[in-house]
Amino acid sequence: MGKYVIAGNWKMNKTPAEATALIEAIKPLVADAACDVVVGVPYIDIPAALEATKGSNIGVAAQNCYWEKSGAFTGEIAADMLREMGVGYVILGHSERRTYFGDTDATVAKRVRGALDAGLTVILCVGEYLEQREQDITAEVVAMQVKIALEGVSEEELSRVIIAYEPVWAIGTGKTATAEQANEVCAQIRGVLAGLYNEAAAKAVTIQYGGSMNAANAAELLAMSDVDGGLIGGASLKAPDFATIVAAAK
Ligand code: PEP
Repeated sequence: MGKYVIAGNWKMNKTPAEATALIEAIKPLVADAACDVVVGVPYIDIPAALEATKGSNIGVAAQNCYWEKSGAFTGEIAADMLREMGVGYVILGHSERRTYFGDTDATVAKRVRGALDAGLTVILCVGEYLEQREQDITAEVVAMQVKIALEGVSEEELSRVIIAYEPVWAIGTGKTATAEQANEVCAQIRGVLAGLYNEAAAKAVTIQYGGSMNAANAAELLAMSDVDGGLIGGASLKAPDFATIVAAAK
């Protein structure tokens, strides 16, 4: 389906010096990757990450951005600022942003707009809470998140959107969705995209799975028909584990 992309989400981990060291450790291990490789680093690590990845096959992602271009928004970072530095990707709508920092489907949609306007590639995170899965409304929840986030996004712009399906109950918990559960929802997301755009556009979108993906379970998840990559939290902080996941994406 879409091109394989393996992205690390470092969350609030690693100082700039530690970021350089981790990237230096990852670089030789993923040099022959058959997929795109991205590291999602804290804002403060971006200069170090850009320097360390220069000339390599590793892209750099921010973990959020604001939707306005400038102004009185203390503590925020605009998409244009990221783009000017040389950042290529931004993770938006991560469940930790939605749960702890008040992001909603509406604010995620504004961030997506700002990021696309700035020329960034968006890694859009969607996924259900455990209660929603138990209520059997996963498909509806995820469809709503995708539809609201992509409101007004053109088919041309969709080529700069990666969708990460991340069941919230699987993030950082060690509880991975089964390969079948992951694939089922990724396929449902592709169906939503086909409805919003068309079959060809939907097939071209990279749909990642995220949620306790690790060196041991990555191959099985990545072998599924609608899983085109992974968004990796904990395991992305260990170079050999991250490299094993990257190697499984082919
Ligand atoms: C994430 O942060 O997006 C994530 C999937 O985390 P973990 O791999 O640790 O579950």
